[in-house]
Parts: sequence; C-alpha cells; structure tokens
Amino acid sequence: MSSLTQINPATGEILTPVEEWSADEVRAGMERARSASPGWASTPLTERLRYVARLREYITDHVEELARELASYTGKVYTEAMVLEVFPVADSLAYYEQNAVKILAAQRVKTPIVFFGNHSYIEYKPMGVIAVIAPWNFPFLLSVTPVISALLAGNCVMLKPSEVAPGVGVLIERCFQAMKLPDGVFQVAHGGRETGAALTASRPDKIFFTGSVATGRKIMAAAAEHLIPVELELGGKDPMIVFEDADLERAANAAVWGAFTNAGQVCMSVERVYVHEAVYQAFLTKVLEKTAALRRGVDYGSMTFPPQVEIVQTHLRDAVARGAKVECGGRAAEDGTLYFEPTVVSGVDHSMQLMIDETFGPVLPIMTFRTEEEALRLANDSIYGLNASVFTLDLAKAKRVTRQLISGNVCINEVITSMANPHLPFGGVKQSGMGRYHGPIGLHTFSHQTSVMASPGKKPREIGWHPYTPDRDQALAGLTRLLYGRNRSQGLKSWRVILRELLGTYKKRS
Ligand code: NAD
Repeated sequence: MSSLTQINPATGEILTPVEEWSADEVRAGMERARSASPGWASTPLTERLRYVARLREYITDHVEELARELASYTGKVYTEAMVLEVFPVADSLAYYEQNAVKILAAQRVKTPIVFFGNHSYIEYKPMGVIAVIAPWNFPFLLSVTPVISALLAGNCVMLKPSEVAPGVGVLIERCFQAMKLPDGVFQVAHGGRETGAALTASRPDKIFFTGSVATGRKIMAAAAEHLIPVELELGGKDPMIVFEDADLERAANAAVWGAFTNAGQVCMSVERVYVHEAVYQAFLTKVLEKTAALRRGVDYGSMTFPPQVEIVQTHLRDAVARGAKVECGGRAAEDGTLYFEPTVVSGVDHSMQLMIDETFGPVLPIMTFRTEEEALRLANDSIYGLNASVFTLDLAKAKRVTRQLISGNVCINEVITSMANPHLPFGGVKQSGMGRYHGPIGLHTFSHQTSVMASPGKKPREIGWHPYTPDRDQALAGLTRLLYGRNRSQGLKSWRVILRELLGTYKKRS
C-alpha cells in the first residue's frame, strides 16, 4: 500500500500522510456502494435531508477548526478557507435542505388536447452510484457540494479527492461520519490518478469531474467505453472588461481580489483584464497601489501545487520575451514555501501564453481596448468560457455585453460571486466543460428523468390508434389546421368529424 504525502505549502511542514486505495480496493468499494444503493434510493427524501442537517450542524459547529485545517493542507489563508470553502458549503446545504423536496417532486406538465383525458409528469429517480472526482484548489467545496447533491437525489457516492491535498479527503470523511450514513452510501477513495482511473473503470452510473481540460478528456474517453454520462467542470481564462464609466475604485478592488484570492488558483479567477484606454492609467495606478498593500499570509496565501508555480513562471517568461512588462511581483519565494508574489503585467496581447492558456496563479495581465466591439471580441477570443466580468455603471450596456459573451457565467460589477449563489446553475461552455450543477439542476443532474404519460385506462383507444379510416384522416387534418394553422376557421369546418372521431375513442368497436 502506498501513501500520499501531505505538506503545508505555506510553511513546508510535512503533515500526516494518507493511505492510497488500490484498484482492488476501489472495486470492492464499488461493490459496497452497489449493495447499499437500493436501500438508500428507497430512503424517503425527508429522511435523507435529516442526514444532511447533521452534516450542516457538524460543519457549523467546527467552522474555525475546519478553516484552519483546510488552510494548512492548501496554503490558502484562514479567511479564504472560511469565505470560499466552509461558508459556501453551509450555504449550499441549507439551500438544498429548504428546496430539495420541491426540486425532486414529480413535476406535472401539460398534455396536448389530442390526448384528452390523460395527464403527464416527470419523475426524478436516483441513478445508482456516482463517482465524484475533485481537484485541489477548493478541495472541500468542490467535493462536498456535488457529493451532497448526488446523495440527496438518492445515489450512493464514491469521492476521489485530489492527491495534491490528500488531508482534505480525511477531513471530509470525518465530517461525513457525523451524518451516520448507512454503510457503503458514501466512501472516500483516497489516491491519485491511478485511483481515479480505477474509479472510472469501476463503471459508476455517472462521473462528476472537476479538474483540468486534459484530465477531463481522458475521463470522457474512458466513460465513452461504457456510455457512462459525464459532467465536466474544467478550467477557465476568465476575462474582465472595465468600461470607461465603471466605478474604478470598485473595479480595481475586484480585479485585485479576483486575480489574487486563493493565490489565483480559482477556475473563475480574473485571468485577463481589458480596460478602456481612457481610464487605463488611472485603473493601473489603483491596481498597483492595492496590490502593494496585500500582506503575505494575511491577504494572500501560498500556491498549493509545485508544478503550478512552474507554469506561472513559464507564462511570465513567455510574456516578457514577447514585450510585456511586469509592473510588480513576478517572483516565487525562495524559503521552501510555495508563496508567489501577486503579479501585475501590462503590455500584453493575445500572442502570449499568459493571455491564452490557464495560468492558475497570482497574475493579473491588463490590456486596453477602444470600443465595445473590440472588448467583446477580445473577451470571446478564448477556448474557454467559464466566467466573465463586466464593469460599468450603465446596466443596460452591461446586459447588452453579457448577452454577447460566450460564457457559462457572467458577473456584472462583481467577480467570481455568481458561483456563490446556490440558486444559480453553475458550469462552463466551450472547453470549460459541460453540464450544470447548483440550483434545481444540481439535483436533476444526478437523477434519471422519467417522462410519464398516464391515461385513466378506461377509453378503448386513442385517436391515433387503429383502425385508420378516411374519417379519421379528415379529422386529423382538420385538427392540425384548427390547432396550428394560419387560418383556424378552415379547421373549424371539420368540427363535426373531429368531434365524432374524438368521442369515438370512447366507443367500443367490434
Ligand atoms: P487535474 O485534472 O490534474 O486533477 C483533478 C482530479 O482528477 C484529481 O483528483 C486527480 O487525481 C484526478 N485524475 C487525474 N487523472 C485522472 C484519470 N486519468 N482518471 C481519473 N481521475 C484522474 O486537475 P487539478 O490540477 O486538480 O485542478 C486544477 C484544474 O481544475 C484547473 O484547470 C481548474 O481550472 C480546474 N477547476 C475547474 C473548476 C470548475 O468548476 N470548472 C473548479 C476548480 C478547478
């Protein structure tokens, strides 16, 4: 059995290692989940909600301790662990506690008149066993939210946390013990890529993946083998547009927070800023002042994953080689920690990796635009489409621009926060992924939807059933015109035959 190393990236301290699951253990875990599945699926939702309440109570009883531990496993500062991990999880649990019954109730829909007497509805049923594969940047939030959504929808869940912050998997196990779930309903398969691949190969009923585009491709290819549905929440290169009429103080604060929170390791980080040339200098000055005021270990944390520091450095080198200017920051710590200075870069363009590829680090590149069309063209010029931000005091303009942004999420005079509203669906377009969770769709995405058309069963036949007769053809043609034609009175001419045929469905014929 091998173990995963857990370091505190902000201090270099080595913490308790975590035992990795072998492929055999994953298979055995899947069998346990399969055995638990019928019992959990038939547990009433109201009872499942009581388990979730226990988790919320445990989390809210231990807010400080959880935030401290999450900070030690990831290098993020305590406040960010609280604001961006613990709080949104509690918020999301409370949202589903209040709304799950309504969201998962059978949903009545209309029935066309030709099926007169019938009624129709959609039923939401558990899918079986869900595999949730999570990343390291928000290892608590991005694990617990999909896991709870899947559990509430009546599924058993196997979570594969990231090997980069393996202590968080253990922390999640501890939190979930407070729920006292039946055996096999929720399991944490600790491990790295091999464990993830074994989980994908163990044929879950759905794979919910959050991580990089490269891994997303591999998971989708593996899932295709058995036609397993996948939901992919992938990377981003999120643009922020600052118009000349924006409140520059707010825009600068937002850019600095949006780029440097969680050391820029946010899928929805501000990774490209386009600012109108008329306010560029004023905006840049404010951004530099605010960046200079950030305190290491208090306002910004360390990065989490050593290879990510190298990616940041590569992007910066490439940008500088192509003519960009590092206005501030740009250096990695040399004290054995993973701190990287908050970095502002000007003079950038779309020939640079820094403006094309996901940097996922504390770097804020800024370039100018002249017209709304140019800002939109630049913002949409990306393989990604996760989030975008628009800053202007003209809300009509903001909404016009929003309609033209190719993006799964948009924030107006805000950054990142659309994800924090549990009522809003969340997900990407283009290579930022496929599928949505959060909000009502966050439970539907873990459900099989069964469409039901129900007749009281007393009529001998329906109008479209045998036998076909010339009268039936005439009635159907008349009905088509009456319901959908340009001149409905034409259809009305056939009312006698329509009525006769409709009523005829109630008559027994030999
Ligand atoms: P990653 O793709 O390297 O790893 C994610 C998870 O996949 C890990 O648990 C890893 O062990 C597992 N994995 C790796 N190879 C696998 C395989 N072949 N089969 C099954 N599982 C496998 O991503 P990461 O570096 O942990 O996370 C950073 C990325 O995640 C960034 O691109 C970021 O933008 C993205 N992200 C997206 C969102 C979102 O909601 N859209 C949120 C956070 C992070």
